[in-house]
Amino acid sequence: MNRYWSSLTKSLQPYIPGEQTKGQSFIKLNTNENPFSPPRAVIDAINKASCDLRLYPPPEADFLRESIATNFSLTKDEVFVGNGSDEILGFCFPAFFENDKPILFPDITYSFYKVYATLFKVNYKLVPLDDEYRIVPETFTQKNGGIIIANPNAPTGICLSIAEIEIILKNNPNSVVMIDEAYIDFGGTTAVRLIPKYDNLLVIQTLSKSRSLAGLRVGFALGNASLIEALTRIKNSFNSYTLDRLAIAGAIASFNENDYFEKTRKEIMAVRDETANALQKLGFRVLPSKANFLFVSHERIAAKVLFAKLQAAGILVRYFDAPRIDNFLRITIGTAQDMRDLIVNLRMIIGRV
Ligand SMILES: *Cc1c(COP(=O)(O)O)cnc(C)c1O
Repeated sequence: MNRYWSSLTKSLQPYIPGEQTKGQSFIKLNTNENPFSPPRAVIDAINKASCDLRLYPPPEADFLRESIATNFSLTKDEVFVGNGSDEILGFCFPAFFENDKPILFPDITYSFYKVYATLFKVNYKLVPLDDEYRIVPETFTQKNGGIIIANPNAPTGICLSIAEIEIILKNNPNSVVMIDEAYIDFGGTTAVRLIPKYDNLLVIQTLSKSRSLAGLRVGFALGNASLIEALTRIKNSFNSYTLDRLAIAGAIASFNENDYFEKTRKEIMAVRDETANALQKLGFRVLPSKANFLFVSHERIAAKVLFAKLQAAGILVRYFDAPRIDNFLRITIGTAQDMRDLIVNLRMIIGRV
């Protein structure tokens, strides 16, 4: 009942995450999780940290920020950490945006941006992708109160080059430009090296996808120290301890396991490109992906039908019932075996319909 709800609560349209399965043996290709387990050293570090759970965690997670800074050749005061990158994206709204100046993001992108805009009462203007589902940098030169770009974009998987990101930065010296790089480790080039040149750039990454740690909830933002300070002020006005001891320990260990990181992300990219070829042979249009998922549309069979038939066959993928993309499926890259099973099932389904 709505009796005790604030008008804000009534106005919200919360984000709907992809399904998590309970016990059933689905092939789970619907939430862009990594098919590989985190490395053993991460589990060991978490076990070790569990001895200190009596104590609050270090509020600014200094050792973790230090380790991320080293990894990106930055300093600790250019690094912010959060409980998943979603939390950081949320903190950015009160940190950088005003209610009366609309922010810009693409019409087709991560649907959480709209949700935060409503929660924090920030107006937004949607900037259309072109007919090939690409972000056009020159369309982000209009007046605005801030910009959010997912690069690679979700759910398309299409990636902008550094030169294209730089067009957006150059044309917006008075706005914070957030680049959400949740999928950057699957073949794109990070904008991190532009940070010394642009004090309005904030790059946001996560350990959820390329580092196999979706369940640990760790994300980070990289940018000019004064942007980081703004995020710290917001965090410390909300919750001093957004990362627990287990998350901090596991994340630090993850950044020490670079061989494993390189090996698994390369494997996912190779399986992605093989899967894209196989899908094209089955009559799918496959958008060029630099992410750990493919966004595909069949020449003959509606995405909604394929979604239901795959689910009945025990394979979960993601379907968005939204304008311009309601004939597409987003398919996470699983193991090579997962993707062989997917192709076999799709071939049967397509043959029958
Ligand atoms: C998965 C995802 C995130 C959120 O990642 P968490 O760190 O798990 O909160 C952010 N942005 C995009 C575009 C994503 O796909």
